[in-house]
Amino acid sequence: MRELVNEVRAWLAWAQDSGLQNLGPERRAQAPVPARAEGETKVKLPLLEAVVAELGECTRCKLHRTRTNIVFGVGNADARLMFVGEAPGEDEDLQGFPFVGKAGQLLTKMIEAMGLRRDDVYICNTVKCRPPNNRNPEPDELLACEPFLKGQLGAVKPEVIVTLGKFAAQALLREQTPISRLRGQWREYEGIPLMPTFHPAYLLRSPGEKGKVWEDLKQVMGKLGLPPTKGAAS
Ligand code: URA
Repeated sequence: MRELVNEVRAWLAWAQDSGLQNLGPERRAQAPVPARAEGETKVKLPLLEAVVAELGECTRCKLHRTRTNIVFGVGNADARLMFVGEAPGEDEDLQGFPFVGKAGQLLTKMIEAMGLRRDDVYICNTVKCRPPNNRNPEPDELLACEPFLKGQLGAVKPEVIVTLGKFAAQALLREQTPISRLRGQWREYEGIPLMPTFHPAYLLRSPGEKGKVWEDLKQVMGKLGLPPTKGAAS
């Protein structure tokens, strides 16, 4: 019950901040995730586990020296939607899961605003270990970790990738276009439609930008055939 109350609160907070109206929890009940073929998870989970096994206690780049935990990824092995962030921060490094700090809580609200639950989607980062002092990952670190992101994509086979923030978008697209120009425009990574949007940590600093992210997420919902919410219908 408490979980449900928290979920409803989170939803309302995000909806309010995003300028959505009249969106009660019943709306979510009407918005099921279109199912994929049964049995897919049975195939995909072992594929993901194989990527984890290949990663092992990774020492391929210098980030291993300062990390507490490898932050591989979390979520549904059969997700239709994959979120890719930059790199684990302190909370993630300590807990071993991506997006569990304040920015992660906002990401959860964003996911719930789409009528999804966090465990409907798959969440990971461009690199799996925390860079010291939260600096940007360096090119050799990205290069060393990219096969594992590709492994995750190859296992989960999402229909859409959403990159969170400038770094993830620029790293995957291999270009330096500012995020203000990249966001909201469909691109592709490894043949998969990719929507760049702002990082939730940026939204915490600039809440006035939430409306733009909501526009981007509505495009993603459209691509996935998710029912529009009332706020998104206009
Ligand atoms: N920021 C990121 O880009 N990834 C995380 O996992 C947490 C914060």
